[in-house]
Amino acid sequence: MKVAKKIYIAVLLILVMMITFTACQNKRENGTHPKDATTFLMGTVVQMRVYGSNAQEVIDNSFTRLREIENEMSTTIVSSEISRINTHPGEDIKVNADTYRVLKKAVEYANLTNGKFNPAIGPLVKLWSIGTENARVPAEDEIKEALKLVNYQWIDLDDEQMTVMLEKQGMSLDLGAIAKGYAADEVRRIVKNSRVESAYVNLGGNVLVIGEKPDGTPWKVGIQDPRHNRGNVMASIDVRDKTLVTSGNYERYFEKDGVIYHHILDPDTGYPADSGLLSCTIITTDSFDADALSTSIFILGPAKGLELLEEIDGVEAMLITKDLGIILSSGIEGQVDILNDDFQLNGM
Ligand code: ADP
Ligand code: MG
Repeated sequence: MKVAKKIYIAVLLILVMMITFTACQNKRENGTHPKDATTFLMGTVVQMRVYGSNAQEVIDNSFTRLREIENEMSTTIVSSEISRINTHPGEDIKVNADTYRVLKKAVEYANLTNGKFNPAIGPLVKLWSIGTENARVPAEDEIKEALKLVNYQWIDLDDEQMTVMLEKQGMSLDLGAIAKGYAADEVRRIVKNSRVESAYVNLGGNVLVIGEKPDGTPWKVGIQDPRHNRGNVMASIDVRDKTLVTSGNYERYFEKDGVIYHHILDPDTGYPADSGLLSCTIITTDSFDADALSTSIFILGPAKGLELLEEIDGVEAMLITKDLGIILSSGIEGQVDILNDDFQLNGM
């Protein structure tokens, strides 16, 4: 063998050894010791599991970003941009890019769903106050009055100035159905920019998985049994690099005279949506769209919901109907494990 060839092979060997060594080291770093963290942000429990040597920093940065978004968009924080818009009807309120983007997308979904998804739902949310100690069943005429103000077409957005104006006194915005989706995508951006290859994030039902588990298997994400409180799983879905966002009747509700009143309201009736669904899970790449879609489809119901789904590429869904039927979109059929015999798989 010529000397040059020998050197060439030696260099190649060293290179291969170096790559293997780095890969092993990465596996070890990413492998066995995840960092877990739980906090309360954006009105919900936030959980993160991150693999990698910089996991703590990634978690800290993510929580800081979530707090920032909460401070911009919360309806209960009086200094938030959304509160400022709500308390200054008739005025152009300048907002930053986060709030503007979320409002823009919210109005887009309001248009797509003929106002079933409605960011101007504020007066009705306040009237019912579901999830607070003031929750009650309002009188019929109170609902009628509140509904008069629920009109997303009276939200004026100025793309150039990035200002927002509510046209009528008494209107109010509520981004509860979409802000967490935007926030989850921001967390994903932070995690990916930090070169973390494996992580799990749960923002109160908005789940996001990055990569796969360090052992090379997909993440198994549990689907909540809609008849029970949080923690009761009725199915699991295998996913890599995906988001799963669920809207359900169990997340926030109260019971009165045997009737469950939950927090997703139908802007046409003024009552909690009763479309035949107990829950709707959207599986896709972007949490922002998934959050808007899961709420939209939950209110629209199975027939109209699936019609909407067909208009959007790359989106899968799992719907649970009132009679405990499961409807799966074709792209995820093989990835779903039904763990409870009470539920029956229906065709789509
Ligand atoms: P969760 O917040 O439990 O994840 P959703 O994403 O479905 O569930 O959002 C529900 C929240 O959205 C409610 O708590 C309320 O703040 C708001 N909301 C209620 N009804 C509507 C509606 N028709 N359109 C838009 N937002 C709504
Ligand atoms: Mg939603």
